[in-house]
Amino acid sequence: MPTIPSTVSRRLLGRLRDVMAGGGSAQERLDKVVKLIAADMVAEVCSCYVMRAGEVLELFATEGLMKSAVHKTRLRVGEGLVGDIAAHARPLALSDAQSHPNFAFRPETGEEIYRSLVGVPIIRSGRVIGVLVVQNRTSRHYTDEEVETLETVAMVLAELVSGGQLVGRDELQPVDGLALLPLRLDGLRLNPGIGIGVAVLHRPRITIRRLVAEDPDAELERLRVALAGMHSALDELFSASDLSDGGEHRDILETYRMFAEDSGWINRISEAIQTGLTAEAAVQKVHEDTRVRMAQVSDPYIRERLHDLEDLTNRLLQHLAGDGGTAAASDLPEDAVLVCRSMGPTELLDYDRRRLRGLIFEEGSPTMHVSIVARALDIPVVGRVKDVLGKIEPFDPVIVDGDNAQVFIRPSDDIVEAFAESERIRQQRVAAFAALRDVPAVTRDGLAVGLYLNAGLLLDLQNLHHVGADGIGLYRTEIPFMARPELPDVNAQTALYRKIIDQAGGKPVVFRALDVGGDKVLPYWKSSDEDNPALGWRSIRITLDCPAVLRQQLRALLRAHAGRELRVMFPMVAEVAEIDKARAILEMEIEREREKGGKLPSRVAVGTMLEVPALAWQLPALLRRVDFVSIGSNDLAQFLFASDRGNPRLAERYDTLSPAFLSFLKTIVESCGAAGVPISLCGEMAGRPLDAMALIGIGLTSLSMAAPSVGPVKTMLRTLDVGSLKSYLDPLLHLPDHSIRNKLRAFAYDHGIAV
Ligand code: PEP
Ligand code: MG
Repeated sequence: MPTIPSTVSRRLLGRLRDVMAGGGSAQERLDKVVKLIAADMVAEVCSCYVMRAGEVLELFATEGLMKSAVHKTRLRVGEGLVGDIAAHARPLALSDAQSHPNFAFRPETGEEIYRSLVGVPIIRSGRVIGVLVVQNRTSRHYTDEEVETLETVAMVLAELVSGGQLVGRDELQPVDGLALLPLRLDGLRLNPGIGIGVAVLHRPRITIRRLVAEDPDAELERLRVALAGMHSALDELFSASDLSDGGEHRDILETYRMFAEDSGWINRISEAIQTGLTAEAAVQKVHEDTRVRMAQVSDPYIRERLHDLEDLTNRLLQHLAGDGGTAAASDLPEDAVLVCRSMGPTELLDYDRRRLRGLIFEEGSPTMHVSIVARALDIPVVGRVKDVLGKIEPFDPVIVDGDNAQVFIRPSDDIVEAFAESERIRQQRVAAFAALRDVPAVTRDGLAVGLYLNAGLLLDLQNLHHVGADGIGLYRTEIPFMARPELPDVNAQTALYRKIIDQAGGKPVVFRALDVGGDKVLPYWKSSDEDNPALGWRSIRITLDCPAVLRQQLRALLRAHAGRELRVMFPMVAEVAEIDKARAILEMEIEREREKGGKLPSRVAVGTMLEVPALAWQLPALLRRVDFVSIGSNDLAQFLFASDRGNPRLAERYDTLSPAFLSFLKTIVESCGAAGVPISLCGEMAGRPLDAMALIGIGLTSLSMAAPSVGPVKTMLRTLDVGSLKSYLDPLLHLPDHSIRNKLRAFAYDHGIAV
């Protein structure tokens, strides 16, 4: 039942504010506070216990008990009534305290003469950090209103206790003893690498500076305005087109809404304002109360909702503080590991990359835009780390192990040392690879291999020069499309493509026409519901059916390449007829530009991705129509083995280093060689040194890969003798084996090849 707002508590809070704002040490202020409460509540005793390391509550200040017991009397969590309040994180009001089974009498305090007791937990960030107790000599019945007043006072006291002056912050142990212990959490690998640093919340929790208010009506009005602001921001988010596909995001927003419109929640905040708190402090108080209670519930669904409540509280606080900022605007530590539920790609770009060591998301998938940006920035990322925001505190030491999809929070020294050591080794290797930048990519027996980059962001272009690659072998044009709120028009695309060619500084760039659908979703492009999206309406199938988009893109590419050579290739081609259609559209665009008097490229080279197996049986016709071929081994392997490339259960089921796959590739490479059509491979396997070795062994001399792979692949091939590899590999291609990976690895070791 809601309580009637108390003028008593407002008066008390007003006085409390004066004490808190006054001078003196934290201990002196605490002494004054307990005195004030005792007087105001007409009680003989008021005491404050503070949590110390090891889950012990220490008497820190008292009015009424023996002063000599201060800093001496200690109770374990769960021990006595004070320990009981801390253990259950809930108030206790007893008119006959001594008859309670948990009553534990401490002779040094002289409390045996006090009959009744009311106590409340002091809570901060979901943790009990102390207990505030009032005692009376007579058997007194404490009203709900008095309990609530005491809770409000405890909220204000939490500021003093957690300020770090009474006890060190690291001593403020959580109730369950877990949150400050080292933790290892598993997630999903979104970008490899190791990041060691301190946690920075991407959306910082708001610090509330003003807790006590003079005018509750004004605070209620502030709450009303902030709620309205939050509702309309949620509505906007809710109607955003990128949520139209339903799914996880929508569920989260629905829950938000449920909480945001829950009158119980709003009523509780309003009541807390009536007791004399500012709107911010009231929101925080209700949140702390709910958080502690919900955390004790074992139902996983309810515990999940705790997060939504956390988010919602933060949003409301941001509206109250008029601050929607992220940590990018604050002073970032030298070694920041950003932690958040999720973020937009441009938000990540707001940060100073030099200070970022890693990213941890509660949500996330490899194709999420921010993962793509993080990859371009070479930041280790672990996603889908459940509840991480609830388990991490700002500035906690953390390790992001992107290689093994795990996160260490407050790791022990040995773990930090072990990771620092592997990071040092990795850095040495990176330095060794950097030293190779200008040495030619030539095998020991003199075969030159073209090493190209896979790219998708302007940022990737910097890597082209850092790692000394020969050009961009695959520019995934859909990535800039994915990171925008809408389809870019011809002018925007022309400007972007021109920048890319300019930054490539004369090195060739192969642009791949739009490859959307399947796992590559454009936020503004409504994807259809398909049982098998990877086999569905995607890529060139879409762009041939909706040629306007392709036409615009080709027009932009032609304009951007005025006077320079354009290299463009089409993805997911399954039959020659598709190449004919795509070429016809390109020819039309060239004609159109010519008629308009636009400057055309000096040459237009048209290529195809070979990633659908059917195309391999049309090579004679295909190779007469294209200027180059690029094997997309990611999709090609997925279709050849009928094995979803995104399914972790199948990730190791079939091997690209199998006789089946390698001999299939070999026939393609040989046909291209015979027809004199250049062929390259741009799937993930090109970037793995052992796989790259095998690809060179079957005749490929051009590989395209992510930037960090160029050094390792170059190192491998400079120690390779292709002649001896070929004679070893050829007979293996006829074996019935699942994989020849181990045999190839043994060959590499025996011949001193750096894989
Ligand atoms: C591939 O399929 O191998 C490829 C390079 O393209 P994507 O990974 O973009 O589908
Ligand atoms: Mg592909």
